[in-house]
Amino acid sequence: MDLVWENNDRPRQTLYFEAGGKTAEILHANANAFAIACLPLAAWLNEERLLVEDKLCKRLRYGLSSINQVFKQWFPRCSLVDVQASEGFQTTRPPDQRRVATLLSGGVDGLATLRINRLDYPLDHPESIKACITLFGINKFDIDEQGNQVPERLDAFEAVVGRLSELADAENYELHPVRTNIRSLAPGYSFWVKMGFGAGHSAVSQLFQGTYDKVLLASDGDGPNPPPVAIHPVFNQHFSTDAVRIQSEQDEMTRLQKIDLLTDWEYGRRFMQPCHYVHIPEGGAINCGECEKCVRTMLSLIGLGKLDEVSAFEQKDLKPIRVFLIPVSHAGKAKLLGQAIGPLQKAGRSDLVWAIRARLALYYLLRH
Ligand SMILES: [Zn+2]
Repeated sequence: MDLVWENNDRPRQTLYFEAGGKTAEILHANANAFAIACLPLAAWLNEERLLVEDKLCKRLRYGLSSINQVFKQWFPRCSLVDVQASEGFQTTRPPDQRRVATLLSGGVDGLATLRINRLDYPLDHPESIKACITLFGINKFDIDEQGNQVPERLDAFEAVVGRLSELADAENYELHPVRTNIRSLAPGYSFWVKMGFGAGHSAVSQLFQGTYDKVLLASDGDGPNPPPVAIHPVFNQHFSTDAVRIQSEQDEMTRLQKIDLLTDWEYGRRFMQPCHYVHIPEGGAINCGECEKCVRTMLSLIGLGKLDEVSAFEQKDLKPIRVFLIPVSHAGKAKLLGQAIGPLQKAGRSDLVWAIRARLALYYLLRH
């Protein structure tokens, strides 16, 4: 799908999604996915309109307007974009048989969504997850500056697909690996975490129109009313069409509660992969144990007294200086880091509590 700019001096860009095997048979390009992927970009870069040379779903038209207005309130730099469709707006239809899918990268949030769904529903229930969609191209380093998929990153993705395939056999779901360049279209990290991330996941969900009628989008564990962020309960559902509904999951849960839940599950302990993958973990490790997200997750596990049991982490303890040195990029991250304090106090780890408090004090001092 080609993207041409009108108010920006930016080159023509191509957005792609690709898959192999059985996934390729049910993955279909459609304009709704394109519109979802492009609306945040157009708003962030002050385009006046988003003209899609195709037809769009009526429900999505209303939804994109809602999302755009939220973005404008949160980030005044954004424009209000006039969404147009050359072939008009029409209703779309879900498949006759209800089938639910979810996004799953192997991280804490997606695994918790799968686990809770399996605990809540029998496999023959219409709300039971039938498939998991996992994406390559969401990480900044997956695509190089020439637009090529990075071989080492593809190898790491195949390792993830291998683990999620083993999980698929154990938990009875189909796995759909999809590769995309959507992250490389993002004009920087700030755009991606504030507006792009949720749209990217919702866009790929719409490519499964005709096979799944609903795709679940896991919350990031910051509660039902988190600070402005790209996956947010206030607008996640507005990325829906009538053919594929997008539904937020576990908005009520904290990240710590999700981690606790996963430690009581064999595959949670073995496959939990919160790592940012800034660097590919060495020696086949699942997590690097060094990045902000790894450290934050390990703090939670230490507080729960469970780090020893979680084989997905090779490290079995943390030094306070390691905690103090992690980056805290926005208020949501600060809040998530603060969630670890209570359990660590109960676990008698005052050294790590002081390191967190010192890090948060530095964050709030420098923020003003
Ligand atoms: Zn890491």
